[in-house]
Amino acid sequence: MSVIVWTLAFVALLGLFGWQVYRRFRLFTQLPAAARFDNIPQRVKTTLVYAIGQLKFLRGEQPAGIIHALVFWGFLVLGGQVVTMFARGWFPEFHLPLIGSGGLLAPVYMISRDLLEAVVFVCALLLIARWLFIHPQRLMGFKPAEEKLAGHSHWEAILILVFIATITSSGLIYDGGRLVFMAGDPHVEADRAFEPVAAIVGGVLAGFGADTARAASDVAWWAHNLVVLVFLNLLPLSKHFHVVTAIPNVFFGKTEPYGRLSKQDLENSEIFGTSQMRHFDWKQVLDMYSCTECGRCSSQCPATATGKPLAPRQMLLDLRDYLYAHPESVLDENSQENIVGELTGVTDEVIWSCNTCRACEDACPVHIEYVDKIVDIRRHLVQEEARFPTEVTRVFKGMETQGNPWGIGADKRADWAEGLDIPLLSENPDAEYLFFVGCAGSFDDRAKKITQAVARILKAAGLSYAILGRDEPCNGDTARRLGNEYLYQTMAQMAVEVFAGYNVKKVITNCPHCFNTIKNEFPQFGGEYETVHAATLVADLIKQGKVRVGKDIDESIVFHDSCYLGRYNEVYDAPREILKSIPGARVSESERSRNTGMCCGAGGGRMWIDEEPSQRVNTLRVDQLLETNAGTIASACPYCMTMLSDGVKEKGLEEQVKTRDVMELVADSIAD
Ligand code: SF4
Ligand code: SF4
Repeated sequence: MSVIVWTLAFVALLGLFGWQVYRRFRLFTQLPAAARFDNIPQRVKTTLVYAIGQLKFLRGEQPAGIIHALVFWGFLVLGGQVVTMFARGWFPEFHLPLIGSGGLLAPVYMISRDLLEAVVFVCALLLIARWLFIHPQRLMGFKPAEEKLAGHSHWEAILILVFIATITSSGLIYDGGRLVFMAGDPHVEADRAFEPVAAIVGGVLAGFGADTARAASDVAWWAHNLVVLVFLNLLPLSKHFHVVTAIPNVFFGKTEPYGRLSKQDLENSEIFGTSQMRHFDWKQVLDMYSCTECGRCSSQCPATATGKPLAPRQMLLDLRDYLYAHPESVLDENSQENIVGELTGVTDEVIWSCNTCRACEDACPVHIEYVDKIVDIRRHLVQEEARFPTEVTRVFKGMETQGNPWGIGADKRADWAEGLDIPLLSENPDAEYLFFVGCAGSFDDRAKKITQAVARILKAAGLSYAILGRDEPCNGDTARRLGNEYLYQTMAQMAVEVFAGYNVKKVITNCPHCFNTIKNEFPQFGGEYETVHAATLVADLIKQGKVRVGKDIDESIVFHDSCYLGRYNEVYDAPREILKSIPGARVSESERSRNTGMCCGAGGGRMWIDEEPSQRVNTLRVDQLLETNAGTIASACPYCMTMLSDGVKEKGLEEQVKTRDVMELVADSIAD
């Protein structure tokens, strides 16, 4: 009788789970393709390190990270227990080959399983207590952008944790009971030494007699198996679907450079950007399925921290919830719903609040990608609906007419070099490096001083370099991050042609945005160069003794990481090495530095978009940097310089705090 009941329950609940998973994944057949089957060795390595190895959990906030890792590893091992207990519904003496009783690896497996069952049980209780009594803000939602999260899934999370506690404790009671009522069985006796926790449970049950131990073991078997099957069915209905999708999501993550956005096919596309659910490719929807709702992304987001309507987790959940409620929006080819706005809660303001800083992506333990989705939506808003902040109009116009976002006359591009004897590539075609100055370094008065400092250093090092002068084109980065892909592609194509005309092979740039675009995105247009940021080059020149920093500068300095130099291109050490090599420089670190460094507020074209005084990212960043009590804020990006020096001014601290580029500090310290 019990075999029949078990068989019916197994078939019904597993079948229901299969149907639910099918419903979720059948959408993928209707979604645009994503090229995520390349670089298999790299994908396997990333999966082993981040999904199986749980690296982001281990190096992130504790003790939550280690607890999650233990639960994950526990579940990997407990898979064998689930298979065994399921199979014993039909074959009471079933043992898994190799790792089951009597198997070659049985001692290692059984002792790991036994201990991990106990560890996961304790972890589940701790996590339940955290939800009930501690209410961490990261889980409860950051306001105001995540107002909706309050009460959203908290009971669901607690229920799942109760299930986990039940699955693990019932496994121990099941095995503990067997140790009592099956005492003397050769398999049970062989296993006893490798099940220390089950043996303790068995010792307690033995006090009530063998019959009670058998009854407890039977009840535990049913509880375990039914809870596992119900648990499986809750997964596709909840955030815990990540149990199924997180490992594939990490495997199918981006293997191209982080700083390379997709190249839109402008000639053959009928759709520009994303405005409907069915415009997201299958990987972007897999992201939505994979969110654990942990809030690590929103905890790092500068927009969320400054009270803007964007919180990355909320944005993703709004899209996911809409998709779950309206799967026909993907399946119906004629669906015309526009996901930007009240329909989903992902409004224009949400989309334009993003600094494209990647802090969210870097923090996400399951490698969810945000910047591509946000820029894809911007592409639609800009190219199909001309819906963008009014301030952006003059930026596009400046780029179209004068070739720079400032809109300053193109003929003034090389004014910074006047009287400085800077070599021109047209007159020095054999120069080894092109020093690509960029629009900020050419037109912004403060940034021009940084450009002049770079030129001084290159000259002092005797490096073979030249500039393009008035022929230097804009690389179009600002247009791309603001969603104007057409303008970007026009400018990038033109720049690659100019570089080809001068036979450029090696490029130096001090602007991380130029650096990222030339290095990572110009190859999409056939432009392949050896591109180096000035910080990396100058750090090497100092090491080689070609640049000699000798003058004492006597400054306490905190270094601010530019997102496009650090998180996008992993240049963290070079600027720090430079600063530490300068005599008299005392270098400190902000609490948020390197990969967790917060954006200055300029990224993603936000430099050009007005902010409410109470919501300024730059002033918050200045506050964070000044917690170190440094007298100088150093950066390695002209956009960061503008934002940080404005932030210092807004706080009325310009007399006390200096803002300097690393190159200016080197130039000041160069020995005569
Ligand atoms: S890229 Fe930066 S600003 Fe945009 S959502 Fe992520 S953390 Fe927030
Ligand atoms: S996107 Fe990633 S970091 Fe953000 S809540 Fe989801 S799983 Fe956590």
